[in-house]
Amino acid sequence: MTGKNRREFLRGTAATAAVMFSVGRGGASPSSGIFKGAFSGTSEGTAMQRAYGNAGKKPLRLGLIVGIGGDPEAALAKVKALGLPTCQAYAEDFTDALAGKLVAALEKHGIEATSIVVGGPGKEVWDFYGGPATIGLVPRETRAARVAQIKKASEFAKRVGVPAVQTHAGFIPENPNDPLYVETVGTLIDVVGYCRKNGQNFRYETGQETPITLLRAMRDVGLDNQGVNFDVANLILYGKANPVDAIEILGPYVQGVHAKDGLWPTNPKELGEEVAIGKGKVDFPQIVARLKEMKYPGAVTIEREISGPQQMEDVRGAKEYLERVIG
Ligand code: MG
Repeated sequence: MTGKNRREFLRGTAATAAVMFSVGRGGASPSSGIFKGAFSGTSEGTAMQRAYGNAGKKPLRLGLIVGIGGDPEAALAKVKALGLPTCQAYAEDFTDALAGKLVAALEKHGIEATSIVVGGPGKEVWDFYGGPATIGLVPRETRAARVAQIKKASEFAKRVGVPAVQTHAGFIPENPNDPLYVETVGTLIDVVGYCRKNGQNFRYETGQETPITLLRAMRDVGLDNQGVNFDVANLILYGKANPVDAIEILGPYVQGVHAKDGLWPTNPKELGEEVAIGKGKVDFPQIVARLKEMKYPGAVTIEREISGPQQMEDVRGAKEYLERVIG
């Protein structure tokens, strides 16, 4: 870790300490095991810089997020058939057997896995009322189970040789004095630190909080292996930011991108509608231009959250559209 990085690191952890102590009761205990993680920085941080996993690879290479279920071969064959060189792999069952199957399928099809995506366990509701109570590490009731699941994902990613673990942290409270914010940051220190020990980046899916709140949370966590998976549509679907503006706040942390499109929410109970790429409010030409300016080295991963034949149809359309925009 360089001197500057170390100062940044310590400043981050000091900020965490301040917020933890200032809220105190109701939050994670400042003397708990969770808190030690942030102070145990070592020189291994230099291996986890932003370009980690991208050396020698084409910037803005396309990919697809796929659920691998119990059959990575079938999922990766789909990615290959679409002519996409990368994927993000969503899994729920992090067994050694599945890790072995995923490694074999990645090798067979010559696909690069850029992250392991993890969610749950337990119910997750994707709207403005159920979401804050059920998604990610914010809700107390499911927090311990989700910490355990992310740690399993981290071990799985290590076995497969994937450089990042990616998840929804939840609706991180906008008010940093909210005890739930403090607890969430404490929990994040634990899981981000765990990924760090495994030589991995931890990537936050964007959209469920404003970009500045996500930046604040990352700074308060204070570890050097944090990044975002910049889901350009989520920022719109959740009504949190125009992604063209959000990239000015989160840019240095962008390690992954979800190419997805959508409309602004108009019903305050429901997220905006996700639509096929090119049919929504995301300004892809501007986003791509900015990513190029920033020399973003990573992948652009197509995500289409519908099922059935239309999904593949839309992914093909997205690939053609993005190839035109990226050039
Ligand atoms: Mg996404």
